[in-house]
Amino acid sequence: MRVGTHRAITRAAAYATGLRGGPVLEAMLSGVAFPDIHPEEEVQARVSRSGRVYFVRRRIRHHTARNKGRVMRAFLKARKLWLRGKGVEAAYWLGYGLHYLQDSYVNPRNHLRDENEAWGTPLPLNLIANAAKSSNPSPSFVKQVIATAAPMGSGRLALENASVATALIIPAVLADAAPPSTLVEECREMRGMHIVKTALSAAFATAALLALPAFPLLSPILAGAAIAAYVSDGKYREVRGELNWFRH
Ligand SMILES: [Zn+2]
Repeated sequence: MRVGTHRAITRAAAYATGLRGGPVLEAMLSGVAFPDIHPEEEVQARVSRSGRVYFVRRRIRHHTARNKGRVMRAFLKARKLWLRGKGVEAAYWLGYGLHYLQDSYVNPRNHLRDENEAWGTPLPLNLIANAAKSSNPSPSFVKQVIATAAPMGSGRLALENASVATALIIPAVLADAAPPSTLVEECREMRGMHIVKTALSAAFATAALLALPAFPLLSPILAGAAIAAYVSDGKYREVRGELNWFRH
């Protein structure tokens, strides 16, 4: 995408989130422009025919779905900075991640044609406004948005999808430091069962170890019970993970 498109999408999505100017918005716009103004390289390990490992420097590709890890890392960094009160730095890294996320909607095969079409298409302001309202401050929500990013069939579709994704992400990353009360409540309710399950899991695991020499047939059953108690506690770990979005 052209750098002007990246900036326009980001500005409109920030506007829909209530961010209408100031240093935070400026930092987000310079973050979203950075990868085009200073193309980045990464070092990749290769193995030669003789089995020797060597390293090559390669330009980071933009129009690819392979930057999902880079995007999530940038958003996590932004989130932590935001919670620490470093709004300008946070916005910069949020913008940086948004650049690669927006580009992942562009089809690499027609990228020039599509990026010109995107540049000539008006921003989907209604979609942006609706997306900003449907956002959800949670790490699994952010991950889901990143996971569903894929190359589109036209420049217009790339623009629309990148706009919606951007408007979903900005409010999720720049959300208040206070977690939604429903999430806190859910975690508190599950806490009791979590303690029971952790204790059960530990007890079965110990029993499995103790039973091993004398009852080799019983041991795997006990180990299985330990694993089952751990797995059934997965929902608690999930809720805890959601709460971590609010801890710096
Ligand atoms: Zn790019």
